[in-house]
Amino acid sequence: MSDPMAAPEEVHLLSGGAALELHWQHGQRSRIDSDVLRGACGCAACQALRQRGETVAGTGVTLTGAELAGVGALQLFFSDGHNRGRYPWRYLRDLAEPSGAGGD
Ligand SMILES: [Zn+2]
Repeated sequence: MSDPMAAPEEVHLLSGGAALELHWQHGQRSRIDSDVLRGACGCAACQALRQRGETVAGTGVTLTGAELAGVGALQLFFSDGHNRGRYPWRYLRDLAEPSGAGGD
């Protein structure tokens, strides 16, 4: 039983920034493509785009960096210059591990 709010022990950029890999406690690993992360950005601007049904970002966006954003989240820097999204650990887990039990 792992705490969904727990921070990962390690965060890596893979393949020149094409994906993010998170090493959780107990040896679990999650890998999330940068396209997915960029498209899931939760900042106000990206939320507004999604609400209008517009595409948040094109494909081929890579990660250029990642920093802790406060206690429970990661700030990601993308190759298109966008860095306003904060990604709580729990959100990253959800992105990496769709529950598989029927999304809707
Ligand atoms: Zn955004």
